[in-house]
Amino acid sequence: MRLYKFPKWLKRFYPNAIWDFFLNHPQNNIFLTFDDGPTPKITEWILNLLEEHNAKATFFCVGNNVKKYPKIYQKIILNGHAVGNHSMTHINGLKTSNTNYINNVQQANFNIQSNLFRPPYGKIKPKQYKTLTNLGYQTVFWSFIAYDFDSTLSSKRRLKNIKQNIKPGAILVFHDSKKAFPQLKNELPLILNYISSKNYQCKAIKQ
Ligand SMILES: [Zn+2]
Repeated sequence: MRLYKFPKWLKRFYPNAIWDFFLNHPQNNIFLTFDDGPTPKITEWILNLLEEHNAKATFFCVGNNVKKYPKIYQKIILNGHAVGNHSMTHINGLKTSNTNYINNVQQANFNIQSNLFRPPYGKIKPKQYKTLTNLGYQTVFWSFIAYDFDSTLSSKRRLKNIKQNIKPGAILVFHDSKKAFPQLKNELPLILNYISSKNYQCKAIKQ
């Protein structure tokens, strides 16, 4: 089963997390986010496309990838996008002890200069969330996940889903990863065209 949005009951466990900006953003702003990079060629391809569309986004980077590809990470920042912490090793909070989880995120914090944090898989224990919040991290989930990594979902269906969920204040998740790229390289240009046609603006999340 594909879970495109978080159920309401789950949100209560993370009281100060950001899910969307539906209430706070009366302007026509859309918040695209890209997780799991930097990935050579793929992240750069996305950066070029965003530049063509005068679009800003937020990249939730994996610490190990930042260490491997510091130049791409710097390019994200130089191009005016926001970055966020996506842990050091793309760790699943539900399968990790609290101490190991916090250490993993803190380790990534040496490589990623941002208070924004997105839990890999969206999976984090409330206790881990609380500790990170107390340490000053702002957890950012999403209002819609595009399933760009799922090659079994038809492009037509995915684009329809995405268009239905692009509205002012929406936070959408994509991936600058090898798994998502076969889908993304065809679909992201269409999505950006759609966003322009609606006169929406793509903005980075404030760090
Ligand atoms: Zn991820």
